[in-house]
Amino acid sequence: MFEVIEEHTNYVVLRDLDGDLVLYAKPNNSIYDARDPRLKEILKEPLKLEFWVDKDFILRNLYGPWEKLVLEVTTSCDNRCIYCIYNGSYKGERTHSNEFMKRDVAEKALHLYLQHNPKTPQISFWGGEPLVNFGLISYVVSRSRDLGLNPYFGITTNMNLASKYAEFIIRNLVLTTSLDGPKEIHDRFRKPINGKSSYENVMHAIEAIRNLSPQYVDDIIFSVVLSDPTRIGDVKDFFENLFPKNRLKISEVYRAQDHNFETYSDKRKYMESMQKLAFEFVDSKNPSNFLRALFGTALLISSRKLDNLQNNRIFPMGLCLPSHTIFVDTKGYLHPCQETSSIEIGNVDDGLDISKIVSNTFEYISKKQTLLKLLGCKDLPCMLCVSKR
Ligand code: SF4
Repeated sequence: MFEVIEEHTNYVVLRDLDGDLVLYAKPNNSIYDARDPRLKEILKEPLKLEFWVDKDFILRNLYGPWEKLVLEVTTSCDNRCIYCIYNGSYKGERTHSNEFMKRDVAEKALHLYLQHNPKTPQISFWGGEPLVNFGLISYVVSRSRDLGLNPYFGITTNMNLASKYAEFIIRNLVLTTSLDGPKEIHDRFRKPINGKSSYENVMHAIEAIRNLSPQYVDDIIFSVVLSDPTRIGDVKDFFENLFPKNRLKISEVYRAQDHNFETYSDKRKYMESMQKLAFEFVDSKNPSNFLRALFGTALLISSRKLDNLQNNRIFPMGLCLPSHTIFVDTKGYLHPCQETSSIEIGNVDDGLDISKIVSNTFEYISKKQTLLKLLGCKDLPCMLCVSKR
C-alpha cells in the first residue's frame, strides 16, 4: 500500500509502508527503489520497450543451468479432496490413478538434471500423495547425494503418512502441507479415502514431528486453500494463534465449471471480510505472517523486478522462461512445471524437445496477443503484465 506523493507523465513518486520513497515507472509497469541507479536512465527519456522473444534467447535458457526439478513420484493419493484438481472436473487435467515412478525413470531424471548444471540444486517430490511412494523418495535422496548433487529437497504432502516417516522428513526434506484452517473448515473439502478426519491426520503428524524436533515445526510451510472464504477471519485467527511463525501460501479454490462451491455465493460478506483484513494489514507496523501471505504477494508482484528486462526488451506477458522448473511425470515425460502437466516438452531418454518448445512459445505469444487485442487491451503496460505466469 502506497501514498501518492507526485504524479508525472512517465512515473509516480510514492511513499511505502516504511516511509521510503519508491517510483512507479509507468512505461514498464514496475516499482523501483528511489535509490536504484537505473532510475537516472529510465527517467531521462521515455522507455521504448518492445515485446521480444527470439529463438537465441530461448535456446540460451534451455541450454543454461536448470533451477528446480520436480518429480511426480506417484499419481496415487489416499485423499479425495472435493476441490482436487485431479477430481475429473478440470479440463485438461489427469484424473486420480495409480501410477508410480520407477527407479530407472528417477535415475534418468537425475542424470538429465546433472547435465544441466543446476547452480543451487532443488528437487521436489510431488503427487498424488508423494509419501505413498516413500521407497522412491528415499532412493532419490540417497542417489542424488551419491551423484554429488547435494540438493535442497522439498515435499508437498497431505500428512496422512507423515508421522510414519517423521524422522526421515526432519533429516532430509523441507515440508509443505495443506491446512485450510480450523477442523470444521479444513475437513469440509479435504477427505481421506478411509473416512477419517484429514485435520486430525495433519495435527497428529505435526505432533509426531514436534516430539522429535520442535524447531522443525516452525519451518513447515502451510498451503492454505480458502475453501470457505466467508470465514476468512476464523482462518486468520487459527494460524495467528497456532502457527504464528510459519510461512503460508494462500490461494482460492480453483473452480471447475461444473463445481459449485456455494460458499462463494455470499460475495458481499466475503468482500467485507477481505476489506477489513486489508485495512488491518495496511495499519499494522508488523503484520502477521497470515496477513503478509494474503496481501503481501500483491505488492511483491507489482514491485517484482523484471529479471528478463534486457536492453529495454521484455519477455512478454509474464511467460515462464523455459528451464526455471522441469516437472518429470511418473512415466518420464518432461513438462514446464507441475501446473502444466498437459504440455509435454521432452522425456528423460532424449531430453528437451527444443523445436517443440520454440514453436509452442511463439504460438502461445501469438494467441495471447490476439486475445488481448480482441479484449481491447492495446496499452503496453497491460500487455507487459507480470501478474500471470
Ligand atoms: S491430497 Fe492433494 S492430490 Fe490428494 S486428493 Fe487432496 S488435493 Fe488431490
